[in-house]
Amino acid sequence: MSDSRIESHRDRGSGIGDPTNAAGRDSTLDVLMDAARAVREHAHADYSGFKVGAALETADGTIVTGCNIENATYGLTICAERVAMFKALSDGHRQFRRMVVVAPPEAPTPPCGACRQVLWEFAGDLEIILANLNGETGRHRIGELLPQPFDRRLLK
Ligand SMILES: [Zn+2]
Repeated sequence: MSDSRIESHRDRGSGIGDPTNAAGRDSTLDVLMDAARAVREHAHADYSGFKVGAALETADGTIVTGCNIENATYGLTICAERVAMFKALSDGHRQFRRMVVVAPPEAPTPPCGACRQVLWEFAGDLEIILANLNGETGRHRIGELLPQPFDRRLLK
């Protein structure tokens, strides 16, 4: 995994505010894609063979990655999106910009229902960029994927 690249991205400071380079490409997105693809290789997906990588960009430009981690009981399996979010939360991050999710299929692979609920809880209407190993396959916002969320507003 290209940790040094991720660190240098975080330390770039002013580059975070304007992530497009001279060619108009979103260079930060490229870094997120690379990070998601790299962490995907760490997936523990012995049962499904379905390896997923996620890269979460925090408000301060930090990139926090996660991969899916399966368990022989199946039910204890946790998705890449939630691993990334929980890692970020445990590191003290509370504001998020977007998440890239990389999975192998040609078709877009959006987050499962449990991940949508967790991402909504901690990141609100987060942008989700879907990709496979060749490139981007779709863009969504969690508010679109989870149109009527159960959240703290209902507990008052
Ligand atoms: Zn999930």
